[in-house]
Amino acid sequence: MAKQQHRIQDLVGLVHKLYDPELAEDWDNVGLQVGDPGAPLDRVLVALDPCLSALEAARDAGAQALVTHHPLLFRPLKRVTPDDAIGKVLWTAVRSSVAVICAHTNLDCAVDGLNSWLAAQLGVQQSKPLQPSAGDYLKLVVFVPAGHEQGLAEALFSAGAGKIGAYDQCSFRGMGTGTFRAGEGTAPFIGEIGRQEEVTEFRLETVVHRRKLPRVLDKMQQAHPYEEVAYDLVPLQNQVPGAGLGRIGRLEQPLTLEAFADRVKESLHCSHLRLIGEGGRTIQKIALCGGSGAGLVQTAHRQGADVLVTGDVKYHDARQAEELGIALVDAGHFATEKLMIEKVAEALRSAARQHHWEILFETYAGEQDPFRFY
Ligand SMILES: [Zn+2]
Repeated sequence: MAKQQHRIQDLVGLVHKLYDPELAEDWDNVGLQVGDPGAPLDRVLVALDPCLSALEAARDAGAQALVTHHPLLFRPLKRVTPDDAIGKVLWTAVRSSVAVICAHTNLDCAVDGLNSWLAAQLGVQQSKPLQPSAGDYLKLVVFVPAGHEQGLAEALFSAGAGKIGAYDQCSFRGMGTGTFRAGEGTAPFIGEIGRQEEVTEFRLETVVHRRKLPRVLDKMQQAHPYEEVAYDLVPLQNQVPGAGLGRIGRLEQPLTLEAFADRVKESLHCSHLRLIGEGGRTIQKIALCGGSGAGLVQTAHRQGADVLVTGDVKYHDARQAEELGIALVDAGHFATEKLMIEKVAEALRSAARQHHWEILFETYAGEQDPFRFY
């Protein structure tokens, strides 16, 4: 049997299946950053940052893609030349045909993602999202004559409607009577101009993420037999079950802040960290957010956390925590996120195995915290 040919777009699909782009913040830029979706693929390198050294390591290893946590393209670029940091990476990526794909806030917020891994690593049990993902979903209700409901539902699903957590093709339908009267100049699918009609119709309901709405409405118009489609869009307040920024949970046994700080250092392999709060205080309820999570101090405090573990804590964040009486452990951006390298590689490996795809996933071992303590 001929060896199956995999492409960059297959890898993008795999990453998005694991870390749904719908979970990404609006300001974020996730997914394929540079690369040809149709280019062949059999080897992938996973790293935290899309820096030049990681990209060169991917190229030298013969990989066709680099999967990272942090996006390469974030702010608009005025030019792409090898003279600036991002331009140099882009330049090299294009010249060496290495695609760059990232999973950023969608990895942070995933049910089985960066923050749930960090919680497990620190021995934080029964953790749940600190700030649940709001979802940004709408309910789409559309009325369709009997006999056309299945075709319409399939069209909506094919455009991405009807996804709830790990379930897709979710909908509800009920039968009833629709009425209408066609005006002058219309071409009604059923009935005559100027006469009131009663038609057996289905009320078909499903959910749509706001980002997919234009495509879904487009497909709806194409698949619906009526020239004037009656439909409702209702904004929803639903959260995405289990997904969200940061986590909060409990230690099995209470610890002093200092003993917990030792545990953080050991489990995240960091040589040092910064503490806000007296070392002898007892803590048990732990909030955490890998990367820059100091903006969650108030949220963590409101939910009764004794401590927030994160990175990038600024002076005023520290003062705010002091005032609120919540402890902070700043283990650094790098140390609280680098565990994603192994975890994402493993998740991609096992997802590819399920598809019987022969793609080699390796981790980039050369990454170092840019901060050194002198
Ligand atoms: Zn980060």
